[in-house]
Amino acid sequence: MASSAASRNGAPRGGGGARSLAGGNLRSSSYKSRPSQLPGSTLRRSSTGSFAAAGDDGVPGRVRVAVRLRPRNAEEMVADADFADCVEVQPELKRLKLRKNNWDSDTYEFDEVLTEFASQKRVYEVVAKPVVESVLDGYNGTVMAYGQTGTGKTFTVGHLGDGDTASRGIMVRAMEDILADVAPETDSVSVSYLQLYMEAIQDLLDPTNDNISIVEDPKTGDVSLPGATLLEIRDQQSFVELLSIGEAHRIAANTKLNTESSRSHAILMVHVKRSVVSQDDTLSIENGNSSHFVKPLRPLIRKSKLVLVDLAGSERVHKSGSEGHMLEEAKSINLSLSALGKCINALAENCAHVPVRDSKLTRLLKDSFGGTARTSLIVTIGPSPRHRGETASTIQFGQRAMKVENMLKIKEEFDYKSLSRKLEIQVDKLIAENERQQKAYEYELERMNQEAQNRIAEVERNFAEALEKERLKCQMEYMESVKKLEEKMLTNQRKHGSDGIIRNECNGEDQVVSVSDEVAEVRKLLQNETQRRKASEEEVNKLNTRMGQLMQSEAGGDGEILRIHQLLEVETQKKKKLEEEVMILKSQLLQLSYEADQSRRYMERVGSGNGLNGTDSPSVNNGEKAPVGTLFEQVGLHQILSYLESEDANVQIHAVKVLANLAAEEANQEKIVEAGGLTSLLMLLRKFEDETVRRVAAGAIANLAMNETNQELIMTQGGITLLTMTAADAEDPQTLRMVAGAIANLCGNDKLQMKLKSEGGIKALLGMVRCGHADVLSQVARGIANFAKCESRAATQGTKNGRSLLIDDGALPWIVQNANNEAAPIRRHIELALCHLAQHEVNAKEMISGGALWELVRISHDCSREDIRSLARRTLNSSPTFRSEMRRLRID
Ligand code: ADP
Ligand code: MG
Repeated sequence: MASSAASRNGAPRGGGGARSLAGGNLRSSSYKSRPSQLPGSTLRRSSTGSFAAAGDDGVPGRVRVAVRLRPRNAEEMVADADFADCVEVQPELKRLKLRKNNWDSDTYEFDEVLTEFASQKRVYEVVAKPVVESVLDGYNGTVMAYGQTGTGKTFTVGHLGDGDTASRGIMVRAMEDILADVAPETDSVSVSYLQLYMEAIQDLLDPTNDNISIVEDPKTGDVSLPGATLLEIRDQQSFVELLSIGEAHRIAANTKLNTESSRSHAILMVHVKRSVVSQDDTLSIENGNSSHFVKPLRPLIRKSKLVLVDLAGSERVHKSGSEGHMLEEAKSINLSLSALGKCINALAENCAHVPVRDSKLTRLLKDSFGGTARTSLIVTIGPSPRHRGETASTIQFGQRAMKVENMLKIKEEFDYKSLSRKLEIQVDKLIAENERQQKAYEYELERMNQEAQNRIAEVERNFAEALEKERLKCQMEYMESVKKLEEKMLTNQRKHGSDGIIRNECNGEDQVVSVSDEVAEVRKLLQNETQRRKASEEEVNKLNTRMGQLMQSEAGGDGEILRIHQLLEVETQKKKKLEEEVMILKSQLLQLSYEADQSRRYMERVGSGNGLNGTDSPSVNNGEKAPVGTLFEQVGLHQILSYLESEDANVQIHAVKVLANLAAEEANQEKIVEAGGLTSLLMLLRKFEDETVRRVAAGAIANLAMNETNQELIMTQGGITLLTMTAADAEDPQTLRMVAGAIANLCGNDKLQMKLKSEGGIKALLGMVRCGHADVLSQVARGIANFAKCESRAATQGTKNGRSLLIDDGALPWIVQNANNEAAPIRRHIELALCHLAQHEVNAKEMISGGALWELVRISHDCSREDIRSLARRTLNSSPTFRSEMRRLRID
C-alpha cells in the first residue's frame, strides 16, 4: 500500500544525479560561467522589448520539493525517549517513510530528502541555489518553507547565523551569491521585507506602513507592492543589518498584535535588475558600424525577482481556534495558508479554476505556482510521533506541490534609458556636425557673394571707363572731321563760287581719300566699340548664369539674391544706355558716311562736268550701295526703329536721322516701309514737338513719298493730315521745305488727286508760301506743277471733266504772281503748271480772268527753255477760248 501510494503520488526525480533540485528538463548551468550569457538555446525571448506576454513560449519547470527533517530537540529527547521517530529518511533514494504504526509505513519520494544532519550549506545548495542562479539569469524565483511550527522553517530560511556562519539560512546565503554575481555599475539589487498577517501586508522595513496593497498590472498580470519600502542593497553587511531590523520589527509588531511570529508569513522580495547586451538584427542603434559585419548591439534590461517565504505554521490549518481566537479571526489568520493549499490542489489536479484571488498570499505567489517562476519548496518536519498527523499533512502538501508545473520565462525589456542616452549622444553629434556644415556653407556662400560683387564692381568700373574714353575719343574725332569737312567745303566754295543746294566743290581725289580715311577710322572705332559691347554682354551673361547658380544653391539667401538682382538690373540698364550710345555713335558715323558719299558724288559730277544737281527734290540719292547701306545692314533696321521710341531724345534724334538717310536710298525704301518705318515716322510727326525730329522725319517721309506704293500708304495712314498739320504750324523753312517736298511728291500721283484735295493737301501747300523761303517756294511750285500735270493727263484721257482742283482751292493767284519768279526752279515749275492748266479748256475762263493768259503769252515768247516756250505756244493755239480772247485783245 505504501509503495502504491508512493508510486501514485511520486514525482519524476531530478536527472543526471545532480545533487540539486534543478533537475529534469531544467538546464543545470555552471555558476561561474553565467554572467551576461544567454540561457540555453531552447529558450526563446520576446524581441518586442516588452515583458514576455503570457502565452509566450517558456521552459517547463516543475515545482521542486525537498523535505527536511529537524533533529530531536531537547524536549523531544526527553518526552519521546521511549519512542522511535515517526519518519525514516532514505536520502540516497530520495525517499521518506512515514510510520503509520510499528509494522506499516507510507513511502514518499521527493526531489530531495534532507536528513537531520544536513548542513545549512547543503540545504541552501540543493534547495535555493538553483533558484538564485535562475534569478541571476533573469527568471523569477521562489523559495518557500512550509511546515508545522517549530520544525525549522525560520531556521532554514531566515536564520542570520550571527555567531555561527555555518548556520546562516537561505536569505543570507542567497544575497551573498547575488551580490557576488551582479556588476555594481550596471546592475542593481533592492529588497522589500514584508509580513502578511490576517490578510494585511505590513512593511517590516517601515512598521508604520502596515496595510500595503497589491497592485496588478492589467496587461501582464504581474503583481507588485508599490507601497512597500524598497531598499537598494550594495553589500552583504547592510543586508544582514536590514534583515535583523526587519526581524526586530516583526517581533515588535507581533507583540503589539498579541500574536506569535509563527502565525504570520514573512516575505523577502529581492529585485534584481541587470543590463545585458544582446545582438539583434531588428534594431540598429550604432549605424556608424554598419559597414562592418557586426550586428548592432541592443541594450536590454532583465528584471527578475527572488521571493523567499517563511510561511506561518501549517498546523493552524487544522487547529484553528485552538488557541483562544474566535473562529472568524482564526479563519482570517489562516486564510492565506488554506488558500495556498487549495490553489496547489487545483494546480496539481489540473483544474480549470485556480482560486488565486482568494487570499493575499496566493495573489503574491501567483507567479510562483503555475506561473513563470522557478520555485523550490522545502517542507520541514519534526521527528516526533506525537505530531505524526501534522507531519503527514505536511508531506501530503509537499507531494501535491511536486505536481505543479510552472513555465519558466525570462523577463527582459529594452534598456530605454541607456538606449535614449546613446541616441541623445548620437543626436548631439549629428547636430554639431550639421551646425558645422551649415557654418561652412554660410561662409562659402558669403565668400561667393563677395566675389561676385567684386567682379561686378570691377566690370562696371572697367566698362564705364572704357566707354567714357571711347565716347570722348569718338566725339573729338567726329568734331574734328566735321570741322575739316566744313573747312574744305568753305575753301571749295570760295574757289568755285557756285550756288545750289549742294554747293560743295573740292580739289578732286584728295578730299575723297581723306574722307574715306576718316570713315574707315570711325568704322574701326565702331568695330572696337561693338566688340567691347559684346564682351560686356558676355560678362553680364556670365554674371546672370552665376546668379542662377547662386540662387539654386542658396535657398535661404533671398535678400542677398535680391540685392544682386538689383545690381544686375542696374547693370542691364547701363548696358542699354551703352547700346544707345553705340547707336548714337553709329548714327554719327552714318551721317559722316552719308556726307562723304555726297561729297564723292559731287566730285564725280564735277569731274564729269555736270556741276548742278539735276533735281531739287529733297530726295537726293539713288545710287549704288553706299557705305550707308552697309551700315544699315550692320545696325539692323528693327534696332533703328526701336530707337525711335527711346525715351532719350538724343537717341531718338539720331535714330530718325539714320532712318532718313536710309530712306534717301531707293533700295532701302521698301524694307523700311515693310518694317513699319513709315508708320513710325508718321507717328513722330504727330507726337514730336522737337523741330529737328520733325524736320528729319518729314524729310524721310518725303523721300519715301517718291515711291508710288508708299504714296498710297502715306495717304491711307492719314499721312496727309499729319503733313498739313505740320505745314500749318512749322516755322523752320527746312521743315516746311521737307513737308512741301513730301506733298509735292504726293501731288504727282494720279490716283490721289481727289483725296489730296479733300484732305487739304493743296491748301496746305499754298499755305506754306507764307514763309517766303526760296527752297519752300520751289517745292510748292513743284507740287502745283505735278498736280496740274496729273490733271491735264486725266483730262486728255477723259477721266476728268471739271475745273482744276487747283483753281478750286485758289491756287491761281499765287501761280500767276510767281510765274515770273526770279528763282529759276520756281519759275520753271510754274511755267509748266500754267501750260498744264491751260491744256484743259474748262479752266480757260478762270485763267483769263486771273491774268494767267498774259503769263502764258509771256512764256511763249520769253521763256529761256525752248521746249517750254513751244509748249506754251501750242497750248494757247489749241484752246478756242484763249484764241478768241487773244484775238479780242489783239495779241499776236
Ligand atoms: P519554525 O520556524 O518552523 O517554527 P524554528 O526555525 O523556529 O521553527 O525552529 C524551532 C527550533 O528548532 C529553533 O530553536 C531552531 O534553532 C531549532 N531547529 C530547527 N531546525 C533545526 C535543525 N535542523 N538543526 C538544529 N536545530 C534546529
Ligand atoms: Mg518560524
